[in-house]
This record gives sequence, C-alpha cells and structure tokens, in this order.
Amino acid sequence: MDNIYFVDFINNNNFYIMRDDLIPFSFGGNKARKAYNFFNDIIENNYNYVITYGSASSNHCRIIANLAKKYGFPCTIISTEKEKETANKKLCELFGVEFIYCNVDEVKDTIKKQVELKKSLSYKPYFIQGGGHGNLGTKAYIDAYNEILDYEKQNDIKFDYIFHATGTGTTQAGLVLGKIINKATGKIVGISVARKLPRGKDVVVESINDYIKDNKLDVVLNEDDVIFNDEYILDGYSKYNKEILEKIKYMMNNYGIPLDTTYTGKAFWGMTEYLNKEKIQNKNILFIHTGGTPLFFDILKELD
Ligand SMILES: *Cc1c(COP(=O)(O)O)cnc(C)c1O
Repeated sequence: MDNIYFVDFINNNNFYIMRDDLIPFSFGGNKARKAYNFFNDIIENNYNYVITYGSASSNHCRIIANLAKKYGFPCTIISTEKEKETANKKLCELFGVEFIYCNVDEVKDTIKKQVELKKSLSYKPYFIQGGGHGNLGTKAYIDAYNEILDYEKQNDIKFDYIFHATGTGTTQAGLVLGKIINKATGKIVGISVARKLPRGKDVVVESINDYIKDNKLDVVLNEDDVIFNDEYILDGYSKYNKEILEKIKYMMNNYGIPLDTTYTGKAFWGMTEYLNKEKIQNKNILFIHTGGTPLFFDILKELD
C-alpha cells in the first residue's frame, strides 16, 4: 500500500505520515487492518456468526459490523454504553447488528452466554476480542511495519521515530515485533490514549511474547524496545483539552487530514509535546494515522 508521505517540518524535524485511515473499507483505520485477518480466519474455518465487544465510539465494532454485513454473517456487539450516541454506533445500527448491553462487571459472563446461545441456535460463532486484540491483530501491524521498511528502502530514508496512538496495545505489539524480526532500528513510541504504566506496557509485552510463542519465532524481546508513554492521557479515555482541538483544526486546515479527540488527535498532540520535551530535532519522524474518521465528525461542532 502506498500510503506514506512527507507532510511538512515540525519542530525542525521531517514529518511523515502513514495514512492507515485511508484503508479503503468502512472509513479505514488500524481496526480495518486487523479485521481483515480475523475475517480470513472466520471464512477459512467456516464460522457463520460474529460476536465482539466494544464501546459506543468503537472503530473496531464499526468495521466488524460492516465486514459481517458484507459477508452476510449475523453480528452481535456487546457493549456497556447504552445511552451514548456516536457516528460509529449509528453506523453499526445501519449494518443491522444486534446490540446486547450489560454492566462492566458482567461483560465476561455476557460474552460467554451469547456464544452459548448462538451455538444453541445452530450457529458456529466466532468471538473477536475488543479492539481486535490477539495474535491476528498483532500480525496486521507486523505487516504494516514491513510496509514501512519497504518505503524506507524505496525512498532511501530511515525513520528515527515512529509515533502512534496506543490503546489495547496490539498495534504497538505488531510494530515492535516487526522491528525486532527485521533487526531494524528507530524508536517506536506509543502515546497512550487511556492506559497507565505499568499495565499499558505490560499488555504490549505480553502480546509480543504471546505472538513469539504461538508462532515459534526465534527472537527475543528487549523490553526497552517497548516505549509506552502515559504522559498525555489527561483524565482518561476520550478526555481531551483545547490544545488537542487546536491540533485537529490545524491538521484539517493545512493538510486536509482529519484527526479525532480520542485517538489520533490526542496522540498527535502528545507527539508534539514529546518532541519538545525531549528536544528532538533534525530527525525523520513518522506518525501512523490509525484511523477513526467517524470520531472526527462527532466533534465537528467543537471546531469553531
Ligand atoms: C483502536 C485504535 C487505536 C489503538 O489501537 P490498539 O491496537 O488498540 O492499541 C488507535 N487509533 C485508533 C483510531 C483506534 O481506533
């Protein structure tokens, strides 16, 4: 995929972007990359019902619901947010999914019950973890890392830093694995949108080790390769400030690139703060735009 390009200079660095938001299905994003792998698995193994879990603003749920619709599989989404209205939720409704709501402490049980229920109705249900977490999701970003290496080779450039929004950690796990499998250099910095240290980093490390074990890879993780930054979370998931809104306006105004307040705008703002704080200059910086375009429209009214 040819979706990496030079944008401009930021803080005296060469700034590049990888437009995974332009992956051509259901408004793209890292969840689309991951979902393709899950659907290959679903189709190869003759599953015929898709069950997943996510919040009302979940990009993952939107993509899964859309792919399920495309392939004609019924789909159930388990969610804890009954009241919240978002573009992603509306899209899921348009794709005709069944929503099952429960309290946070009932999620595990509800998933189990739903899987059993669909089996009792003679379906072969496939459960996808929230956010597309798991080795198939990780694999999607090993592949993305290989695309970055291809770009570097073709354009005779090396990225000193790769920045991206990190949530469940699967994207970061894949990128770091790509780096160690290829014995590549450059720092991969995940800007956390919600989780704090040490848990956030622990989950990335676990995902990497899980993948290595499952695929019997002959590589060893040096935990210093997992740079998980939790300094720009603000008050938690989906919380944002004025500076984030300013960055979003700036990127839209100048480059026509939509960012959102939950993931990419927050990570983009975090990245600029990080570059300042660490006095990083004259480097090649790649920002992975992980998608979430419908979330941009959720905050349109705030971009006055
Ligand atoms: C889910 C999501 C992320 C975080 O990805 P993880 O693999 O869960 O860490 C980042 N950006 C967007 C737009 C997302 O939807």
